[in-house]
Amino acid sequence: HTVAINMVMEALQDKDHGVITNTDEISAIGHRVLHAGIVYSESVVVNEDVKRVIRECFDLGPLHNPANLMGIEACEEAMPGKPNVAVWDTGFGMSMPEKAYMYAIPHEYYEKYSIRRYGFHGTSHMFVSGEAIKFGNLDPEKAKVIVCHLGNGASVSASIGGKCVDTSMGLTPLEGLIMGTRSGDVDPAVVQYICNKENKTVDEVLNILNKKSGVLGISGVSSDFRDVTKAENEGNERAKAANEAFIYRVIKYIGAYVAAMNGVDAIAFTAGVGENDVNAREKILSGLTYLGIEVDHEANKKRGENTMISTPASKVKVCVIPTNEELAIARETVALV
Ligand code: AMP
Repeated sequence: HTVAINMVMEALQDKDHGVITNTDEISAIGHRVLHAGIVYSESVVVNEDVKRVIRECFDLGPLHNPANLMGIEACEEAMPGKPNVAVWDTGFGMSMPEKAYMYAIPHEYYEKYSIRRYGFHGTSHMFVSGEAIKFGNLDPEKAKVIVCHLGNGASVSASIGGKCVDTSMGLTPLEGLIMGTRSGDVDPAVVQYICNKENKTVDEVLNILNKKSGVLGISGVSSDFRDVTKAENEGNERAKAANEAFIYRVIKYIGAYVAAMNGVDAIAFTAGVGENDVNAREKILSGLTYLGIEVDHEANKKRGENTMISTPASKVKVCVIPTNEELAIARETVALV
């Protein structure tokens, strides 16, 4: 990471393509950090205490938190004295009420290990829900917004007035929607059953649920939604089943979140599939006509920009908002330093 950060520094100062002449022009550095456990819900300026919390959460985010800390320490070395800000991927989900975050398991596990639902893609959900409120001209205090972040990792969030009230990922990003390689929701007994039948450990089966499941697992074709759709169009039945299961789960979650909020003002699509896959959006929205949604099919063909894809008569505003986590992190960083 130290080498990588130094390469970034060189690129930023490149004579032809750079944007700064000197690292002194950098006032602060914002970092996307995966997990803060129950300690932080807001972004913070990094100090030794914050680093300790990132370290204590290595167990909760084994692939991300160690790398996030390395990135911070590399920046401290490369730009001594400049403030580093941690923007938590779990931050947005921390406003969920207890009824939404508590797993119905013995309470001692929450007390001892902070086992609860956290939610991820927080920076994206925060950014897109905020932009949807502005773009849809909605009440910033009361707007009920559902964000569908559909990419290789996928999650749905429900927020009221920009505050998250529920989100589909849990203790880890494995819960919720069917993703590129992640299973999303499964009966936990599936783990035990596969362990027994295939003589595997829990860790091995969790690895399968994280890396070999989702649309890749069902289709056997690919984790990339473009490949799966191409195979479906060529008559591959499992690819069709994978796509249908993915769409069905999104429709179910949206329905659940409409119920959780007793209504919805806007639904926003974002990330790789959400921003680009015109057909996926059509299919999801065709399952939501009970909400009085009317799709503007011409507008839905646009890609890559904020677009209202519902008609003016639609009872719920539906939009595409390209996510911009870097901008969201930059805004948080500016606000703090
Ligand atoms: P992300 O994780 O947000 O970068 O999204 C990556 C996913 O978006 C990949 O599975 C891609 O297949 C999918 N994706 C990107 N562009 C398209 C597209 N035009 N149509 C369908 N899926 C797309």
